[in-house]
Amino acid sequence: MKKHNYSAGPSILPQEVFEKASKAILNFNDSGLSILEISHRSKDFVAVMDEARSLALELLGLEGKGYQALFLQGGASTAFLMAPYNLMKENGKAAYLDSGTWATAAIKEAKNFGETVVVATSKEENYNHIPKGYEIPADADYFHCTSNNTIFGTQMHDFPTTNIPVVCDMSSDIFSRNLDFSKFDLIYAGAQKNMGPAGTTLVVVKEEILEKNGRTIPSMLDYAKHIKAESMYNTPPVFAVYVSLLTLQWIKNNGGVAAIEKLNDAKAALLYAEIDRNPLFKGAAAAEDRSKMNVTFLLNNPDHAATFDALWKEANISGLPGHRSVGGYRASIYNAMPIESVQVLVDVMKALEAKV
Ligand code: PMP
Repeated sequence: MKKHNYSAGPSILPQEVFEKASKAILNFNDSGLSILEISHRSKDFVAVMDEARSLALELLGLEGKGYQALFLQGGASTAFLMAPYNLMKENGKAAYLDSGTWATAAIKEAKNFGETVVVATSKEENYNHIPKGYEIPADADYFHCTSNNTIFGTQMHDFPTTNIPVVCDMSSDIFSRNLDFSKFDLIYAGAQKNMGPAGTTLVVVKEEILEKNGRTIPSMLDYAKHIKAESMYNTPPVFAVYVSLLTLQWIKNNGGVAAIEKLNDAKAALLYAEIDRNPLFKGAAAAEDRSKMNVTFLLNNPDHAATFDALWKEANISGLPGHRSVGGYRASIYNAMPIESVQVLVDVMKALEAKV
């Protein structure tokens, strides 16, 4: 029986995507060939890449606005260093918001390229909120932030206004909510949360910000080179791109990002309402910064853990334990998680209350 999968990533994808992807492994487009054995330069695969790139822009409302979408490799962790490589000038400066472990990892990479100003951090409070009220230096080459902090369960609900390019790691909330994406100049997201399997990173970049920093960039790390090669500078991760395309089509067929956002709002409201109502639990993140993707919560009395763990396992739930740096529980309720599964978790929380 299919489990209710709360894993933070790699994570749940729509069941229909799993089914279509399985078919393509055996017989892709009725070609008599597996998607795994055809050339990435074949007509059938080039069509996959082209559609995935244009659909990503369409779903973000960025078509015809000077943006390019790429499907690259190396995970978001490689994007951490590609951002400064492509955008920070020699002897330049970058501004970073430190809102969690992944932001810290991005800052570490930027420091290899030049002055890296941390405009604010919530590290002292174990990243339980999004820092606010900071100033972004106007002379920095770009500002970098993380829209959703997968580990701590916080999410940026407002973004600062600035005249410098804005770079955002949207790995764990891409395609989950409508934003004015044209306020961002570079967006990147590892596929393995809301979009597809591990193995590809979506990059959405405003072309005009590239090729301006005067650095010689190794080819594989050069966004402009990938754009010129139409995201096929080398052999792309064909299967990861194909599965991502299936997920993007699923989003479009279900009404696009705005419709998915409504469902995500309802799922998050249902779960946070129970966390706030049930005297046995408390939320881990500051209420105003709560993530609608990764819901982190704790038991008020750790002695209840064994009983709670047995209950959710019995209910066919998987992937609920929190990250070691927060403890407790983390329910990742990405796009593909049905509200019925969230209700199962809420029922288990109520069952614990009735039992102890
Ligand atoms: N940024 C965020 C917000 C993440 O959640 C993760 C992975 N959990 C990463 C970056 C790192 O991604 P990758 O493993 O694809 O390098």
